[in-house]
Amino acid sequence: MDLGIKGKTAIVCAASKGLGRGCAEALAEAGVNLVINARTEGPLIESAQEIATKYGVSVTSIACDITTAEGQALVLAACPNPDILVNNAGGPPPGMWSDWDREDFIKALDANMLTPIALMKAVLPSMMGKGWGRIVNITSQSVKSPIPVLGLSNAARAGLTGYVGGTSRQVAPSGVTINNLQPGIHATDRAVSLDKGVSDAQGITMDEAATQRMATIPARRYGTPTEFGATCAFLCSQHAGFIVGQNILLDGGAVNTTM
Ligand code: NAP
Repeated sequence: MDLGIKGKTAIVCAASKGLGRGCAEALAEAGVNLVINARTEGPLIESAQEIATKYGVSVTSIACDITTAEGQALVLAACPNPDILVNNAGGPPPGMWSDWDREDFIKALDANMLTPIALMKAVLPSMMGKGWGRIVNITSQSVKSPIPVLGLSNAARAGLTGYVGGTSRQVAPSGVTINNLQPGIHATDRAVSLDKGVSDAQGITMDEAATQRMATIPARRYGTPTEFGATCAFLCSQHAGFIVGQNILLDGGAVNTTM
């Protein structure tokens, strides 16, 4: 399917690896020129070169922490008027409700709620002026079904989701859509580190830990960055202009709900 976005420009945050990279690749395959970001320069430059060579699009890499005002300014300076914005960053650490103080919540809110909100606020005026724009936020299945040890993530991402619910309806008349993708377990570095936690805690091998976690997913496997990216690219396509303010689960059926 031709996604109809060849020649457009996208900012994809936190995209040297994992789900962000999957989104960057799928957009590049559709002919979109990219500005991608991550904190560590080496893997970021490598990813940018691989994507540019494979898909023949321009890929600018900006090494910075997207959760800081300085990082956001650097990325926006490289691409002040993107047609597409994909918001992403690392998730907050796990813990117990009794562990977290005000500072922990402020940090999580800054990274996973206020950063995407700041970037949306910065790019929306030009998207609305052009009468076309696509914004996708990578959140989590934990918005729909809370993961108890990820209380910081549950809270920050639910706040972002509430903001998107209202704002997406305000900007839709100008041809701009905002939607959220909710990943379940995907085969990225994060999944490996979670498998390691299970393997260490239970004294089992990494394979056994992965098999145990896959058994909790009706699809009996982890998702891949490639299929996640393809869904993101579709949401950014010409065909998705009537999808507004939605939260789309990509979880292999793990969250047991009718809707
Ligand atoms: P990942 O494989 O660990 O990749 C994270 C990417 O983000 C890397 O490119 C990393 O590069 C970059 N990054 C992290 N923090 C950053 C920051 N502050 N500024 C700029 N770049 C940053 O993670 P992932 O699995 O793709 O997860 C992406 C998001 O989805 C996370 O918020 C995660 O919590 C959420 N999520 C993932 C899953 C899953 O199963 N994978 C499930 C639910 C939710 P640098 O380290 O070099 O910055």
